[in-house]
Amino acid sequence: MLKKLLLGALFLSTSLSAQDYFFKKFHPFNPNIPSPEEFLGYGIGERHTRHDLIVSYLTKLSEVSDRASIYEYGRTHEGRKLVILTITSPENLGNLDQLKSQHLEFTDPTKSPTNYDNVPIFINLGYNVHGNEPSSSEAALLTAYTLTASNNPEILNYISKGVIFVDPTINPDGRDRHTQWANMYQGNPLVGDPQDAEHNEYWPRGRTNHYWFDLNRDWLLGINPESRGKLTWYHEWYPNVVTDFHEMGTQSSYFFEPMKDNGSLNPIMPKENYLDLNNLFGNYFAEALDSIGSFYFTKEVFDGTYPGYGSSYPDLQGGLGLLFEQASSRGHKQTTDFGEITFPFTIRNQYTSSITTVKAAVENKGVLRKYQQEFFKSGMANASKSKVKGYSFKDEHDPNRVKAFVDKLLLHKIDVYKSGNNFVVPTRQPQYRMVQTMFETYEKYRDSVYYDASAWSVANFYNMKYKPVTSLNLGEKVTSLDNLVKTTSISKSEYAYIIDYDDYNAVAALNYLQSKGLVISSSSKPFTANTSVGSQKFGYGALVIPVSLQKKDANAVYELVQQAQKKYHVPMYSVNSGYSLQGIDLGSRWISPLKKPKAAMIIGDGVRSYEAGEVWHLLDTRVHMPITKIPVRNFGKANLDTYNTLVMVSGGYDFSKKQQEKIKSWVNKGNTLITIGTASKWVIDKELVDEKLIEKEKDSTKTIERKPYVNAPEDLGKESLGGAIFKVDLDITHPLAFGYNDTSIPVYKNNSVWLAPSKNEYATVAKYAKDPHIDGFITKKNMEENLKPSASLIVSKLGSGRVVLFADNPNFRGSWYGTNRLFLNALFLGDKIRIPE
Ligand SMILES: [Zn+2]
Repeated sequence: MLKKLLLGALFLSTSLSAQDYFFKKFHPFNPNIPSPEEFLGYGIGERHTRHDLIVSYLTKLSEVSDRASIYEYGRTHEGRKLVILTITSPENLGNLDQLKSQHLEFTDPTKSPTNYDNVPIFINLGYNVHGNEPSSSEAALLTAYTLTASNNPEILNYISKGVIFVDPTINPDGRDRHTQWANMYQGNPLVGDPQDAEHNEYWPRGRTNHYWFDLNRDWLLGINPESRGKLTWYHEWYPNVVTDFHEMGTQSSYFFEPMKDNGSLNPIMPKENYLDLNNLFGNYFAEALDSIGSFYFTKEVFDGTYPGYGSSYPDLQGGLGLLFEQASSRGHKQTTDFGEITFPFTIRNQYTSSITTVKAAVENKGVLRKYQQEFFKSGMANASKSKVKGYSFKDEHDPNRVKAFVDKLLLHKIDVYKSGNNFVVPTRQPQYRMVQTMFETYEKYRDSVYYDASAWSVANFYNMKYKPVTSLNLGEKVTSLDNLVKTTSISKSEYAYIIDYDDYNAVAALNYLQSKGLVISSSSKPFTANTSVGSQKFGYGALVIPVSLQKKDANAVYELVQQAQKKYHVPMYSVNSGYSLQGIDLGSRWISPLKKPKAAMIIGDGVRSYEAGEVWHLLDTRVHMPITKIPVRNFGKANLDTYNTLVMVSGGYDFSKKQQEKIKSWVNKGNTLITIGTASKWVIDKELVDEKLIEKEKDSTKTIERKPYVNAPEDLGKESLGGAIFKVDLDITHPLAFGYNDTSIPVYKNNSVWLAPSKNEYATVAKYAKDPHIDGFITKKNMEENLKPSASLIVSKLGSGRVVLFADNPNFRGSWYGTNRLFLNALFLGDKIRIPE
């Protein structure tokens, strides 16, 4: 059956057969509306379509069809347009504002409209969040064409009862990276050999966005413009059904929901979502795919536990999120164990599911609407029953980190109140389930193997010390971020300026001033100074700018300091004397000048692109500091003496003995090597540093117990740490921990790198706390044998230089504001570390 269908794809060369292959069911079509093939000049599936052409085609549809209008919701990092084509009947389109306000009444728990069936259902068809899973955007073109041009009674029925929002490409930057690749290696005739270049993209591949972020994890974290634009749109429309189209390995078939049951024992979302709606829709997809002879599977894999997927976030907004996974042809045609898989075949499955989603939504619109209404009402009701009336948090030391967290809350339409320096998030609000998502932590799980993270209490990502409260003192509602950080403007000094180092943005200010040529010193001990605004305490790491020691005059220095403050809103002070009220004086040997970091990072084949991208993103977007990205393939000839800091993130580094020696001798000269995750394991394995890993004891006398073969994936899977949050104990007197005031902070662990504490007593900067669990799944064995005895961050002396070894990724998904500082300190203060022997 499968083979016969694949042969169908070969008849694509003429326009008519192409139309028949995809949408003969939906004739007749309006001849005044160009099909994708007529517009593009090639049949869908014959090439990979560039994103700008996708936007052009949808724009064209909005111009020639009275059923469609186009909306731009953002721009990517690389400047590509993010668009949504709204498709519905001309009557609905002319009346959209009113339909929207009717629709939104169902999301308001204080209202109780009952006209469930009278308002068209809102459907968001989202495509291609992973750039190198290209069938879906091509299917988006076919779907948009069908819905705007078909005059078939079935389609006319859908558009009169539904408003369909087509988001053709969620990740245009990644898509175009892959599109370029697939088209440039396309053979004529096509080459199906899996070893052909067309099917083997080069690093970093097209899955991720410009900064190599997985946008299908970013819905919760809202770091990138693609997700931020989409979330803003989302909270304006609250669609009832949302699709998320993907591709998986070539040797597979097709997947649709239901997926694996939720891994949490008490999932935040109502069980009806999984038990009722997924099965209801699943029957539709099965029938549609059966009718074209396509094979598929459900329920075995993929869990919707993590709320940051495109298929799970809608579930937390009263919608139904739907995941689809098509076996990838990755390229235009590939040979598989089943025969051959062609690009058109993959597109047709996605197209079929698209139209079927619309059908199922329209035919069940009363059910979906009632469900969404009940979702928001039950949220309020659950909140009213909860003893916890809200969560309060504050951090007077670091207003910019607090601001970044509040931004996240507002992005998800969570109500936040502020009274003095204290913030409160009440639980009784329409977004109660998002409040739970941001603050609640879990210990007990139904499942032990996760597709991704098992912990996502975002408050911990930001190192917010929050607590549940049982009574509320709300204060003023926070409606914007504008006035959250207040700094008093600094007055001119002829003597010195001091920058508080506790603020998240202090590093960016430091980089700004260093890049303008100022010499900045850092204090290794706290002190209290008599500033122009009175006595002021400064913690470890306070930055001191001595005016007379600069090459610029006092006016120019003042100008730069003011600019830095204006740009980064960091508390800064001026002093006219070096004589401190308490602690060390400004001329102390504990206050020493910092070297400006000249940093490089190794990227390319074998390197974990996510982690590398997180470093690049952090430095570009928050610190505004350039970093040189050295491809692995050039490492042999690269001149390292240009840099004083080198970053190696997780990866498999296949360096020769000579190249290892090159790194070692470069560090030896007084430079800083920063390693993260498996790169930390690598420097230990290769004996670049004299440190150890926690070794598993192998007991050869132990009898081997036979286990059922079928359980192997489950048994082995649970020992790998999907992603959980643990408490570490931090030495805040160490330069790597400057800026922290609390010795206990959360870290994110999703690997099996277990560093033994350093044998040097001053070199273990962060060790897991005695009772380390905060949130997420870990086996007892991993906890007792590996995590508890190990260290999260150590520094190791190597000649005149040092290696900073992170077991855990401090920059995870661009959202670990709480641990970013550790990494930035390694970059900016690494040179300051002198390990006593
Ligand atoms: Zn995917």
